[in-house]
Amino acid sequence: MTTFVNTIPKIRDALQATFRSGLTRPLPWRQHQLYQLARMAQNERELICDALWKDLGKPKTEVLSNELGNVIDRAVKSAQRLPEWAKPEHPEVADRQKPWNPTIYKAPKGTVLIISPWNFPMMLSFQPLIGAIAAGCTAVLKPSELVPTFSQLLEEIVPKYLDPNMYRIVNGGIPETSKLLELQWDHIFYTGNGKVARIVASAAAKHLTPLTLELGGKSPVIIDSAYDVDLAAKRILWGKCHNAGQICVAPDYVLVQRDRQDELVKALQKHYNAFFPNGTLDSPSFGSIVSHLHHNRLTSLLSRTKGEVVLPGRADAARKRLELTIVKNVADGDSLLEEELFGPILPIVPVDSLDQAINFVNARSHPLVLYAFSDDKGLKQRLVSETRSGGIVFNDTLQQLAVSELPFSGVGESGYGAQFSKYTYDTFTQLRSSIDMPREAEANLAMRYLPHSKEAVKSITAAVYTPIPPSSL
Ligand code: NAD
Repeated sequence: MTTFVNTIPKIRDALQATFRSGLTRPLPWRQHQLYQLARMAQNERELICDALWKDLGKPKTEVLSNELGNVIDRAVKSAQRLPEWAKPEHPEVADRQKPWNPTIYKAPKGTVLIISPWNFPMMLSFQPLIGAIAAGCTAVLKPSELVPTFSQLLEEIVPKYLDPNMYRIVNGGIPETSKLLELQWDHIFYTGNGKVARIVASAAAKHLTPLTLELGGKSPVIIDSAYDVDLAAKRILWGKCHNAGQICVAPDYVLVQRDRQDELVKALQKHYNAFFPNGTLDSPSFGSIVSHLHHNRLTSLLSRTKGEVVLPGRADAARKRLELTIVKNVADGDSLLEEELFGPILPIVPVDSLDQAINFVNARSHPLVLYAFSDDKGLKQRLVSETRSGGIVFNDTLQQLAVSELPFSGVGESGYGAQFSKYTYDTFTQLRSSIDMPREAEANLAMRYLPHSKEAVKSITAAVYTPIPPSSL
């Protein structure tokens, strides 16, 4: 049920009051809430799978492995690692500063807002919430209105496991989200598209609220001409078919050496037939398109392409089904290169050299991830130093999401801030610096007090005259 707009400020106020009461501070309490979250994902898995099947036609195995598995694993690990993360840190300092006890305390930011999208609604709602709980924040979670069964289910199950005085679900669309964004928060964590991100960023700016933006974009794949095309095809296809291509890190388009394009097409067709012997129109292992709007958007992009369709996908608008469609000889300016595809369409762009591929990528916004298939160390190093993207993945697709210890983040148009485990904890944590000056330090501090003697001026300005080491260039 949509949350009444006029109750939203009261919800925020109540969460702020809980935060101020200090109830979220003790680590055992945070650990308990994290285990409860993991229990919720485990115990309610059938209801969650059913809801996502209803909303997205999402295959059950995908939900269990990608959404629930990750949430359970990260909640449990965050609970276990929390005592280490939350420990105050003592940085290495100059000997004379050691008695001051320089300390970095890990302070929870406060009451935070998490706005999540429809495509991986379980993972993208709870992954940030795990960090917020671990950090000791109170939080509102606003799931996407495009997955109504799932969002409604959260309203029912979350209060059974998590303390509703600390963590609340607010359901709704633009009016409710706009109301949330009018209010002051201590951090906003938004996952979604760049257009709405600009609305969120403007709202956050009004209150100087720190912000994480997890966005998308066109993640390219570069295939080195010497690489095993068959293996690349299999791994690209596997990544592209998840959630029918509706994943922020889906391989968006492929740049391949012109003389190996047809070999790539053949390999993609071969693996597609092996993965889906009856196609993907009715396959229970292939998701549906989220809405009629997105279905129309995708079929319209396809109708305007000047590329050559080599794997035609059938479309069933009424059921929002769209089969994987592969298009070769796609050139700069084509409809399929206009925007993030976010669907089961794979354009192949032939290039004449690696330089051309790099220039193609660099001429566009920084993607969330750059995929490259190559065994050549030098080439990999070139890509690391000559391109920019949130992440760079060699010789596979999507699998980077399984490594909880790596920060997941965008850059430029693909967003900013980071998440996964410790990085999500850090997002919701303020590093609070402290010193504690001992009474006995007075003798050493004497020089700072006015009036300054010549000797004192020399001492307190010494850094300005310190010799700077010669550089090696
Ligand atoms: P969406 O339509 O569900 O929107 C995301 C959230 O924004 C929802 O909660 C929605 O209610 C809210 N919203 C929508 N319009 C709004 C408005 N006018 N004002 C305030 N809030 C509003 O999801 P989406 O944006 O279609 O998600 C897909 C996009 O998200 C893709 O670009 C994808 O690449 C990106 N994405 C990024 C990540 C990541 O981790 N980097 C993960 C998943 C998706």
